[in-house]
Amino acid sequence: MKIAVIGTGYVGLVTAAGLAEFGHRVIGADKDEDKIGRISKGVVPIYEPGLNELIAGNVRKKNLSFRSDLSAVIGEADVIFVCVGTPQRPDGSADMSQVEEVSRLIADNLDRYKLVVEKSTVPVKTSYWIKRTIGLYKKTDTDFDIASNPEFLREGSAVSDFLQPDRIIVGVETARARDLLCGIYAKFRNRVVVTNIDTAELIKHASNSFLALKISYINLIASICDKTEANVEQVAEGMGLDPRIGNRFLKAGIGYGGSCFPKDIKALVKIGEDLGVDMSLLKEADRINFDRIRVFVEKIKQALWILKDKRIAVLGLAFKPETDDIREAPSISLIRGLIGEGARLRLYDPQAMENMKAIYPAEPDRLEYCDSPYRAAEGANALVILTEWPEFSGLDLGRVREAMANPIIIDGRNVFDPAVPRRLGFEYYSIGRK
Ligand code: NAD
Repeated sequence: MKIAVIGTGYVGLVTAAGLAEFGHRVIGADKDEDKIGRISKGVVPIYEPGLNELIAGNVRKKNLSFRSDLSAVIGEADVIFVCVGTPQRPDGSADMSQVEEVSRLIADNLDRYKLVVEKSTVPVKTSYWIKRTIGLYKKTDTDFDIASNPEFLREGSAVSDFLQPDRIIVGVETARARDLLCGIYAKFRNRVVVTNIDTAELIKHASNSFLALKISYINLIASICDKTEANVEQVAEGMGLDPRIGNRFLKAGIGYGGSCFPKDIKALVKIGEDLGVDMSLLKEADRINFDRIRVFVEKIKQALWILKDKRIAVLGLAFKPETDDIREAPSISLIRGLIGEGARLRLYDPQAMENMKAIYPAEPDRLEYCDSPYRAAEGANALVILTEWPEFSGLDLGRVREAMANPIIIDGRNVFDPAVPRRLGFEYYSIGRK
């Protein structure tokens, strides 16, 4: 059996390499010829721990190759995983044009039975539209099936998430599709949950929106802690010990970002509203998240009063640690806010600086990219932390203090135990803790 994975972004690359690791013959395909050219030369275009090695190992074993001749790849494949982007449109709904484009290409090249698997995050009922599109445009009277197999990997731990999944959702409408897809994941038989397609599609949006809701909830509690003597970390710990609540995703901070939560919660709101369901619960969770940046800028102002011409070291640009991804990262709005106030910024991130330069190019004396956190701290009137990279919790704070003009830290991710920087003479502000 030959598997094609269409779209070699964060999900497609990991899916292609992961399926190859399970022993399947996989072709990763993308319309971006330049990207495919680089991957074929061994240059992986994203930073994801363990991915380079996984790809290189399977290319060597000849289980995995990368191509941009999409029609030929689809023609050769028995199973096609669709991993293209489903970005947000201005009204919050998911832009499904990449999925439609691939569906039409599959229709053009359908010469024998194929199973088309949606792996991208898609609105419930998308399979209906894929099926209709392939049915309308196919050139032969050939059978095909659609299945939904949403992906739950997290950037930063995507490889291990894919290779050791906690569940595999298989949404199908025929026994043939079920057997094929369950066969691909045979190794994880006891973790496979078989549902109908609508259910599988909804599980993904419902999961991401629930996690986003949990983050907004603890951030709301953090705002109460900020105005009282309560400590949000202890509140979260006390809550999380209840197994009905659990301790994950109860970390207060400057809010969620990335290419999934912000767009998926908005997409689910739009799906629900289009179906006549009152979605105000999720709308409010998203609004709370949006407001985190304003709350954090206020915190910085409480420490510095006037931001104009203040030199601020910004540590962390990626939306989370262990990735170079800055899509919808809180840092983007925060930097915009600080520039708007006239601050002079010195930025550092272990992996995401190149991506950020495309949004905010360096500007001498206004916005500079630094090659270490210590360089960023030089002459700074304050240091703000936006991503909880492990590198930051291990900083030599004595050295940071020496480099800075004023020893002030505003920590948006509660990286430090407050007692530690204070002992070294820092003014230290964090989220929901005194
Ligand atoms: P991405 O933007 O990194 O990658 C998408 C890829 O698809 C790009 O390489 C693009 O060139 C390619 N592409 C677009 N149109 C194409 C076409 N017509 N033919 C061939 N290739 C095409 O996106 P991503 O982060 O990998 O996400 C993909 C999907 O998976 C989205 O629906 C996303 O919501 C979902 N998802 C993402 C994550 C994540 O952590 N990034 C996790 C789970 C699910």
